[in-house]
Amino acid sequence: MAAEPVGTMLSYNKKTITYARCPGCAYGRHEFHLDCGMAYENERFTLSQDFEVPIPGFMIVAPKRHIEMLSELTDEERNEMFSIVDKAVKIMRANHICERFDYIFEEKESRHLHVWILPRYDWMTERADDILANLEIIFEHALTHFRNEDNYKEIKRITDIVRNSF
Ligand SMILES: [Zn+2]
Repeated sequence: MAAEPVGTMLSYNKKTITYARCPGCAYGRHEFHLDCGMAYENERFTLSQDFEVPIPGFMIVAPKRHIEMLSELTDEERNEMFSIVDKAVKIMRANHICERFDYIFEEKESRHLHVWILPRYDWMTERADDILANLEIIFEHALTHFRNEDNYKEIKRITDIVRNSF
């Protein structure tokens, strides 16, 4: 049997993650874990801290089945996916993690569909008037300055809050 192609990435807390084929599918099947744990899952979706970028509360909602376009979701799945987004944000807002959030949604070729939930922190608006137009600056700042134990604890604290409140 031929070995499946393996991809790698560096987790938000600098651990090497390896996965076969698709990271979204692998995460949904529990083939790798993040140290903060999963915030929520059911049979169809996962909710989790972003795998790579150490911004607290920067979360991903993804279907467990491999789809690449919004139109591939059933009406029921689409409603459920955005209900999970909505609930996660309401929990984070109620716990004073952040007041406002942006939502990022791509249909990249050969990429597992997901919605990103990005808190709008003051440090971001200080660096960029338009956060979504300057994601590279925002992510680079986080990767350079937020890879430390205190921040990893904050990521875990927020994930725990969301998990316990869901
Ligand atoms: Zn996938």
